[in-house]
Amino acid sequence: EGLWRLSKLGVSVHSDPGKDFLGVSDGLLQEIAKALEFPVASMLPPEAFSVVRKSFDARKVLKEPKFVYTVDVDVSKLLSLEPRTWDFISRLEPKVGLVEHMPHVRASGDLISIIHDSKKISNGALSTKNISPGSKGSYKYPTSRKPKVAVVGSGPSGLFASLALAELGADVTLIERGQAVEQRGRDIGALVVRCILELESNFCFGEGGAGTWSDGKLVTRIGRNSDSVLAVMNTLVHFGAPRNILVNGKPHLGTDKLIPLLRNFRLHLQRLGVTIKFGTRVDDLLVEDARVVGVKVSDSKDKSQQDFQKLEYDAVILAVGHSARDIYQMLLSHNMNLVPKDFAVGLRIEHPQELINSIQYSGLASEVHNGRGKVPVADYKVVKYVSEDGDALVNLGARSRSCYSFCMCPGGQVVLTSTNPSELCINGMSFSRRSSRWANAALVVNVSTKDFDALNFHGPLAGVEFQREFERRAATMGGGNFVVPVQTVTDFLENKLSAASVPPSSYRLGVKVANLHELFPAHITDALKHSISMFDKELPGFISEAALLHGVETRTSSPVQIPRDNDTYESTSLKGLYPVGEGAGYAGGIVSAAVDGMYSGFAVAKNLDLFPHDI
Ligand code: FAD
Repeated sequence: EGLWRLSKLGVSVHSDPGKDFLGVSDGLLQEIAKALEFPVASMLPPEAFSVVRKSFDARKVLKEPKFVYTVDVDVSKLLSLEPRTWDFISRLEPKVGLVEHMPHVRASGDLISIIHDSKKISNGALSTKNISPGSKGSYKYPTSRKPKVAVVGSGPSGLFASLALAELGADVTLIERGQAVEQRGRDIGALVVRCILELESNFCFGEGGAGTWSDGKLVTRIGRNSDSVLAVMNTLVHFGAPRNILVNGKPHLGTDKLIPLLRNFRLHLQRLGVTIKFGTRVDDLLVEDARVVGVKVSDSKDKSQQDFQKLEYDAVILAVGHSARDIYQMLLSHNMNLVPKDFAVGLRIEHPQELINSIQYSGLASEVHNGRGKVPVADYKVVKYVSEDGDALVNLGARSRSCYSFCMCPGGQVVLTSTNPSELCINGMSFSRRSSRWANAALVVNVSTKDFDALNFHGPLAGVEFQREFERRAATMGGGNFVVPVQTVTDFLENKLSAASVPPSSYRLGVKVANLHELFPAHITDALKHSISMFDKELPGFISEAALLHGVETRTSSPVQIPRDNDTYESTSLKGLYPVGEGAGYAGGIVSAAVDGMYSGFAVAKNLDLFPHDI
């Protein structure tokens, strides 16, 4: 009885309808029959099976690429089979990782319905048991009104914190220095077409945060099947994301899908009574008796900060991302404890997508059809280790640096993520079809305080200064106007500039040939060189004259952590302040930032006594 799960069911590309089909095809039924040792596949009722995961596996170790499925079996629906076939059901014993009994159906609701059915929270569907009220007990606010919470930043962490708190009954104000997606789209258009950078409305700042004009990859290292990730994914579906993100092995949305989703998210928050202030920047915290009691805000277009407002709140969630360097500075002015954090820097490499398709898929590359074909547009993920000083040979036990590809955007484009005209940094985005001619990815090397010290950057913001140094060098090497310095990968490996002209780039604001060896200290450049050579062994053809390196990739994750209490999420330096998401150093990527925001919302709600008492 109950639900059984079959995993690792491989269906050849030839027998599968393709990446966009998430139902039960004849080819899949054949594999299910094999796994169940059921003699006639066509007798199995397809409605007894539902696909819970579909991935494409083109690893070279396989005889041929295939789609790999995980399928849930509703055993009650198999009982309609001829009675003489029933004995095979009794043989549904767990078989070496193929069949697994699902003792209970997991919580699969979105955050809204989970909160509406708050009993589920206490039943552990979304466990909040690790979240306890602040050490001094719940914060007391006047009982004549709802508790007032400011959420600063409308990236994934701020949106999910606002949603959790508003659903639980707080009076939430969401404060965002950038613009709503409609205006933000126009500002980004002006940047890409006319080279006008709006300092407060760009690829990093504005509704949806840094992840809006992105590839919208929803892969996460925090456990795809955890209830919290499921709650986030289902909430995204609730606001309009396609249901396939729940099933695809490597789910992604693309900018075109993210924009309407964010509009729906906003409308839902507004219906719940959340006040949303776009174009409003938090410049300072109001602190009384070592407790945050509100924020000082100004119109983000007003550089003078003359016309400011003071707004009072019972709690302030700081979800500002890691490009809000002014906020780190402001926190230091309140003597807050900030800790420098390791991150990674490097370059962005771009290949023709066709080349990556043929490296990964060989003969099957013709099935990609610019994102409309049977198999997904090919991606890659590589990681290697070199010695601390960049040498390719890592001695056993020696300290090493990891060099890896990061934020790979198949069928995407390289975009400008600077928030200041004198600094240049880049990242990648794509649309849902991933149909551009290019594949780009960051190639980065881990850096730590030792590297910051070597350049004479010390103190809590040493990592920020380290980033800024290379962003400024890149801006200078490009010659201004956001022109990006580039070098072919073959020239980079030989430390020369042979190419008078370089292959075309997807970057729209112009590129200039430069020797990228002049950008980073030698040990980082060496680490990049050695790792590229090692990547080429794994992906033969990766080193190619058609591959172009772009400088510079610096904002891979936060260079700072704002310490907070593990249980209450409250800052360890200032009561009433809740640092969350990527900028606080507690998340990296859209999904993990959303999960962190959701739990911070629960933590604040708990501290403000907004949870039902039985939890
Ligand atoms: P953010 O998303 O950075 O949001 C912070 C928000 O706070 C911003 O909107 C900002 O305007 C606002 N803010 C800052 N300071 C203030 C202030 N003083 N007052 C008011 N508001 C303020 N991750 C993935 O998982 N998949 C991807 O495919 C992916 N692609 C990316 C592509 C690009 C181009 C970029 C830049 C990032 C990408 N990322 C991707 C990373 C991902 O976007 C971030 O990890 C995630 O957005 C972090 O969420 P967050 O809520 O912590 O912060």
